[in-house]
Amino acid sequence: MSTKTPFKAIIIGGGPVGLTFAQCFSAAGLDFTLLERRETVTPEEGAGIAISPTTFRIYDQLGLLDAINKIATPIPQKHVMTKDGHRYNSYEFHLRECHGRPMAFVHRHELLTMLHSTLSDDAKSKIQTNKSIASIVSTDHGVEVTCDDGSVISGSIVIGADGVHSKTRRLMNDLSGHEEPVFETTFQGMFGNFPRAANVEEGSQMEPGHDWEVHSDKISSQCFVGRERGWFIIYRPLAPGPTRERKTYTEEDVQAFAKDLIEMDLHLTDKVKFADVFKVVNKAGMTQLQEGAVLKRSFQRIVLAGDACNKITPNVGLGYNNGVVDVVYLTNALKKLVEDAGQTEIRTETIEELFARYQEDRRALSETVDSAARRVIRTVTHSDFVKYVLDRWVNPVLGLDKVYGTKVMGPLLAKQQVLEWLGEKNYLPGKIPWVHRGLVAGEVKA
Ligand SMILES: Cc1cc2nc3c(=O)[nH]c(=O)nc-3n(C[C@H](O)[C@H](O)[C@H](O)COP(=O)(O)OP(=O)(O)OC[C@H]3O[C@@H](n4cnc5c(N)ncnc54)[C@H](O)[C@@H]3O)c2cc1C
Repeated sequence: MSTKTPFKAIIIGGGPVGLTFAQCFSAAGLDFTLLERRETVTPEEGAGIAISPTTFRIYDQLGLLDAINKIATPIPQKHVMTKDGHRYNSYEFHLRECHGRPMAFVHRHELLTMLHSTLSDDAKSKIQTNKSIASIVSTDHGVEVTCDDGSVISGSIVIGADGVHSKTRRLMNDLSGHEEPVFETTFQGMFGNFPRAANVEEGSQMEPGHDWEVHSDKISSQCFVGRERGWFIIYRPLAPGPTRERKTYTEEDVQAFAKDLIEMDLHLTDKVKFADVFKVVNKAGMTQLQEGAVLKRSFQRIVLAGDACNKITPNVGLGYNNGVVDVVYLTNALKKLVEDAGQTEIRTETIEELFARYQEDRRALSETVDSAARRVIRTVTHSDFVKYVLDRWVNPVLGLDKVYGTKVMGPLLAKQQVLEWLGEKNYLPGKIPWVHRGLVAGEVKA
């Protein structure tokens, strides 16, 4: 037995997943330092994020339900159209019926602000901005992270929540000698938001609560209408084809993409065209939409979470929500580990075992989310004739989306962990029973 060094996690990245770690670790009493490369953890970015019923449960446990309800709009309705606005399928998402709550949509900037502003002053003081990691050393007793500015931070473990181009992942693979190609990109996306009150077309101010989707040959769009604003994402396959090269897009690229969409007269709802919305857009951007899941999530005292280890296209609205599952798993497991260790030092092998279980236990849901997202983006962009027929003619009649949501995804979502040491004040059961339940008053969990 050696003298115990207090446990401290070094979280790399203050995006949605990193800040959710800050929230959960604060609630769990786990010490951390969060390092964010940018000058702020609440940058103004154009995209919106869907919050699933499973993430709502965690927010409820963390006391964030009122805060998220103030900024998120429930979006229960979905409409599918051709690119000229002919609607051929409308239905209510299965989520409320199956899991008690509908999907809700929130502006990414407002989500980050909510996750940050509701932290205690003590937790906020553990966040350091303008800190980009340069190297990691993992020893028998802990980790040392060096940043580009030369500062060194010591801790017990490193959590890489630094997104799809994760430097933590790269450094971890260098240390372990594990070789794995970076994620592949087959699709690119343009995203943006616009004020709902802009009344983009005479008499057609958009009604909140609807997801309008165009499914068409090599082009697809999603337009989510919230109370204050709408968000759009347009998807198209890359020409000439998939790549593993990283590309960042300029304002000229955005304008060129927009020009193509205006020329094809793309609709965003049955009445509103992309051209009308683009005139009043607050902010638009373009991004590569990588797809992939790493084979190795951890090495020694280093572990990955969120987009750093599992990146999907946004169609199914599960990127962040899938990352929250990582956060909850690791928070539960590390809290127990630290409590069980008491005054003894936590050995590297013990941490490695925990991280190996994390990889194994997260595999089923991660693989299903990954394959669902891959299938959906190829279906909505009609990547082959069978997918076109299924999407345009079979799905509207047989409701295959709903069957998949209820029979395949639903049971997996129902198995997602909650913070097992916190209660759920606003517990809502759906048709598919939740497998895990937060603390019920008077109960003590082993
Ligand atoms: C257009 C669009 C729409 C989307 N819509 C949805 C949706 O509806 N629902 C949903 O669940 N998901 C959605 N997603 C996906 C979602 O945004 C991501 O899954 C989510 O942001 C992942 O969070 P993250 O914190 O893991 O990574 P990121 O959001 O990428 O954050 C990583 C953070 O790490 C920081 N960082 C990077 N490198 C370093 C370094 N070397 N040192 C220190 N810090 C570093 C970055 O600055 C950043 O703050 C969407 C994505 C896009 C592009």
